[in-house]
Amino acid sequence: MDAREELQSIIGDLRGYLAQEKNRGLTQVARSKAPVITPVTTPKVVTNAGKPEALAKLYQEYAACLNCPLGRTRKKFVFGEGDPNARLMFIGEGPGFDEDHTGRPFIGKAGQLLTKAIETTIGIKRAEAYIGNITKCHPMKDPGKPDMRGNDRPPAAEEMVSCLPIITRQIEIIQPDIICLLGRTAAQAILKSSDGIHQLRNKFYTMKYGSKDIQVIATIHPANCLYDPSNKKYLWVDFKKIKNFLAAD
Ligand code: SF4
Repeated sequence: MDAREELQSIIGDLRGYLAQEKNRGLTQVARSKAPVITPVTTPKVVTNAGKPEALAKLYQEYAACLNCPLGRTRKKFVFGEGDPNARLMFIGEGPGFDEDHTGRPFIGKAGQLLTKAIETTIGIKRAEAYIGNITKCHPMKDPGKPDMRGNDRPPAAEEMVSCLPIITRQIEIIQPDIICLLGRTAAQAILKSSDGIHQLRNKFYTMKYGSKDIQVIATIHPANCLYDPSNKKYLWVDFKKIKNFLAAD
């Protein structure tokens, strides 16, 4: 990374940090040696009954978000969907064509495969889990052609940094027992790693969100199973681990 890229990375990190702290109550940042206003850093614990309302409030807060360039070209803001009290949460990298046109996560062909795997391998209904993405708006290779299929791309690092406060708050509200990261991009962003998906998958990580230690597992993106059906075996192995975790707890 050269000096310019490093500076851009630092600015991106700082922007994401400030957006996150603003959500948590920071109202002012000191410009000199004057004491910094102490942000509220401990997220409020939301009761089960309060989770739908907390998610709805978060949705309203960001539905018109323009914190990164993806906001200017999206058709729909794809917040996420599922049970606010879910024990299992899935996180992908960002919406694709179908999601951008409907406002729902994972509903294209990859989403249909995910739904089938959730129901047949883990043994729960899709609606019992919560499904979201790191970026809430559609990353496109050519942003001038939102109605063209095959125009999807993974979100850039700075887009993910801008959007991370939303998924972080979703996790803090839902407080799932386990999170499954779908694909390399989501896994690297959440686990803060540059390893490939085959190094990251098939093992549990413990991450703290709010006051809760949450188990995190990464697996291959369902879209990779569509390109190469032999990849389904990895999804199956990792989903069996999730099934066993949910059954044991
Ligand atoms: S991707 Fe996230 S940060 Fe960027 S505009 Fe959409 S909601 Fe805002």
